[in-house]
Amino acid sequence: MKTSDIAIVTGAARGIGASIADRLEAGGWRVVRIDLAIEATGPLTRRVDVTDFAGVASMVDDIETHVGPVRAVINNAGLTRDGFAHRMDPESQWAPVIAVNLTGPFNLCRAVLPQMRTRKSGRIVNMSSMNGLKGQAGQANYAASNAGLVAMTKCIALESASLGITANCIAPGFIDTDMTRAMRPYIRETELAKVPMGRPGSPEDIAQMVEFLLSSAAAFITGQTISVNGGQFMP
Ligand code: NAD
Repeated sequence: MKTSDIAIVTGAARGIGASIADRLEAGGWRVVRIDLAIEATGPLTRRVDVTDFAGVASMVDDIETHVGPVRAVINNAGLTRDGFAHRMDPESQWAPVIAVNLTGPFNLCRAVLPQMRTRKSGRIVNMSSMNGLKGQAGQANYAASNAGLVAMTKCIALESASLGITANCIAPGFIDTDMTRAMRPYIRETELAKVPMGRPGSPEDIAQMVEFLLSSAAAFITGQTISVNGGQFMP
């Protein structure tokens, strides 16, 4: 990694994404922070909806032209709209979760991969979830989107391996962010009690794994899904 290397982090306004962006920046990356809920203050902080294919493509074009080559992408933006499948609303629950968690990462991968392939270098990290690996009552939409992300990542890894590009997923367990703070207290307590380490993960626990996957130490790792879950699920 050169100090000028650019990493795009989506969902960077808060939680895990903000922690990833801070950590990479501290490590010398130039980080482009993307979020829907962020004030666009310049070339490195952009309000973009990851579900907007054309918007994502033109943003990447602009970064490549005016900021520099994108070396890494961290698809972290995500959303939950929980409910049992037999009551799940296709428009307000199913579609938005698939759009943000699965189509969003596709949009950004689609936009950066041609240049990465030409340059024969690149790192892609997709934020999946433990529940995408094990299933979870009330999260058919969320689990399906995150399982889809694992499969998409394997395909991209296979398509890109000979071109110096790696693509991996991280599957976090219970992490202390606004997403899990929004759970009803008794569900939160029940879920926390399932973590063998007896604590929620921190955003920093995930950010450190991202930093590792972007480092030269991870050059031979691709197509993998790395669980960071305090021992809660061992796929
Ligand atoms: P969070 O809700 O705190 O933050 C998600 C961010 O994504 C928000 O800032 C939001 O504005 C942004 N976002 C949502 N839709 C967007 C869109 N269309 N375009 C751009 N940005 C958008 O969530 P978090 O807990 O920090 O989770 C980050 C990622 O980690 C998500 O993909 C989530 O599924 C995954 N994850 C989280 C946990 C956990 O326990 N918190 C566990 C497993 C996986």
